[in-house]
Amino acid sequence: MIRMVEVDKFFGQLHVLKNINIEVPRGQVVVVLGPSGSGKSTLCRSINRLEPINSGLIEIDGKPLPAEGKELATLRADVGMVFQSFNLFAHKTILDNVMLAPVKVRKMAQPEAKRTAMELLERVGIANQAQKYPAQLSGGQQQRAAIARALAMKPKVMLFDEPTSALDPEMINEVLDVMTTLAEEGMTMLVVTHEMGFARNAAHRVVFMADGEIVEDSVPTEFFSAPKSNRAKDFLGKIL
Ligand code: ATP
Ligand code: MG
Repeated sequence: MIRMVEVDKFFGQLHVLKNINIEVPRGQVVVVLGPSGSGKSTLCRSINRLEPINSGLIEIDGKPLPAEGKELATLRADVGMVFQSFNLFAHKTILDNVMLAPVKVRKMAQPEAKRTAMELLERVGIANQAQKYPAQLSGGQQQRAAIARALAMKPKVMLFDEPTSALDPEMINEVLDVMTTLAEEGMTMLVVTHEMGFARNAAHRVVFMADGEIVEDSVPTEFFSAPKSNRAKDFLGKIL
């Protein structure tokens, strides 16, 4: 579903993605781990071309990433993204936040968009917050709204970049639970996270990055019990 082949990316002189090869098959959950500055966000953002790459190939669903225009907009509609900051529209209600893109981009009729949005809010457990504004919700509720908003576009793939890092500890699980359910339902997901429990339980594969490179790509049991590289051992030593 997602395929990156020999991808390189520079910020000026800084080589931030080095010969990245990664595949996320349909229905798989891949967790990306690695120290700060290793290139995890850049990797994530390059997949929907929020960051253009310098060389290599990225494909979604067998098709190369379009560079611009209508094709790029179509691709972005198929790739849902959830960031650390929730990025909800502050002056719109939660319901309107979730309805907006399906109506504008997918040209969905209002009643259907509303029905779908309410179903999604139900699914993430905040249907009772539909008429509130983002600032009136807790961080965990806002992040669940952001997930519902991404799902409203019926994406083929979901990208998560540290979705729980900005949350108070007691709200982390409510967001991880939603993500775990999505994973169990067969959503294709690429998840940057420091939540090792999620990586162990929900991931099909763990990709470990350091200094812009993919250092390990293995199943969670193997990665956590027998990391091969010293960099991964160091990393696990610090966080576990
Ligand atoms: P963190 O865990 O802190 O989120 P990360 O693994 O997501 O880190 P990236 O944000 O992808 O790392 O950054 C990779 C490298 O690229 C870092 O050295 C960072 O300083 C640099 N970088 C990121 N964005 C830019 C930018 N827009 N311009 C210049 N350098 C950047
Ligand atoms: Mg990051």
